[in-house]
Order: sequence, then C-alpha cells, then structure tokens
Amino acid sequence: MSKPTVGVLAVQGAFIEHERRLSEAGASPVELRCAADISADLDGLVLPGGESTTQLKLLHELGMFEPMLDMIQAGTPVMGTCAGMILLAEDVEGGAANGFRTLPIRVLRNAYGRQLGSFSAEGIYQPTGQEMELRFIRAPRIESVEDGVETLVSLDGQPVAVRYGNQIACAFHPELTDDLTLYEEFLKI
Ligand code: GLN
Repeated sequence: MSKPTVGVLAVQGAFIEHERRLSEAGASPVELRCAADISADLDGLVLPGGESTTQLKLLHELGMFEPMLDMIQAGTPVMGTCAGMILLAEDVEGGAANGFRTLPIRVLRNAYGRQLGSFSAEGIYQPTGQEMELRFIRAPRIESVEDGVETLVSLDGQPVAVRYGNQIACAFHPELTDDLTLYEEFLKI
C-alpha cells in the first residue's frame, strides 16, 4: 500500500514539526501554501498550532478557506492542533474565530495560556489508558462537547483531544513530543 499523502497547512505556525512527525508515522506530508496546493489527491489535512486569527485571515486572503472546507465537509480526514482545533470548533469563546465550524465542540481561546503560558503535563490516552506527555502553549480549553464526540486524551478528567468522525482535534502540541500515538490514530482514518 502506498503512503498516505497529508496536506499540512503551511501559511503560519508550527507546520514543519508536523511534517517530521507525519513522516515518522509513515505518511508523505506536503505543504499547503496556496489554493493550487489543495487537491483531491490529498488523503488528509493537518491544521497546525499558531495564531488562529492570523491563519484564518490568510486562509481567506489566499482563497484556501472554501476548498479546505469543502474537503472537510466531504469527509477528508483532518487533524487540528491548538489553533487548528480553534479553526475546526463550532463554537469559540474568547475572541473571534469564524473558522470551518465542522466539529461540534465549544472551546475557550487562551484558556490555559494567560496564567501559565506554556507547560507540560501527563494526560491519559483513553483507548488504552496509557499516559501521554502533553505540551501546551497558550492553549484553548475544550469547554463542552456534543453527542458523538469521543474523548481521545484527557487531562485531570477533562478532554484535551477529541475525535468526531474523520476529525481529530487537540488542545496540545503532539508535534513537539516523541509520542506518535495521535498521528497513528489519524493515519488509521
Ligand atoms: N493562542 C492561539 C490562538 O488562540 C493558539 C495557540 C497555539 O496554537 N499554540 O489562536
């Protein structure tokens, strides 16, 4: 079987680290920098961390928003991390982000960020109960989830990574640790 090709949004934020992790997990990453890079050949999409308002502005300016939304709505697997999760969330508190809104969760921007900035923590990968090292950087908090949204990783009993159909989203940065679990989960889809 050939390697899945995964498009990584590369207009702003932590996309290079995602490309490394995707390669380690057995995928072929390609950078998405303009509308012409978005093709039906892509097996999946990754929305990296960064600054969601800047990313959204660029997505619209570059004409990338609509084609990406079409792909996500058509069921192309997508993984959104941190700012990427904000772009997927149906409801966003703490400052405007009118993103794709395909994932029925409510998030609060910069919820962990103001007091703590960045930190590491041990979460639990729910499908196996194993511990997972998590890195947070001015992270959004998942405030609530709708029916059908599965918790993949929890921290202190609260969801910090979720899955809904072909969409995976997490508040932390899986590209900054050695743990490939979430990428493997994503590539399975
Ligand atoms: N604070 C950023 C935002 O609201 C997200 C932070 C991150 O992606 N590391 O967009």
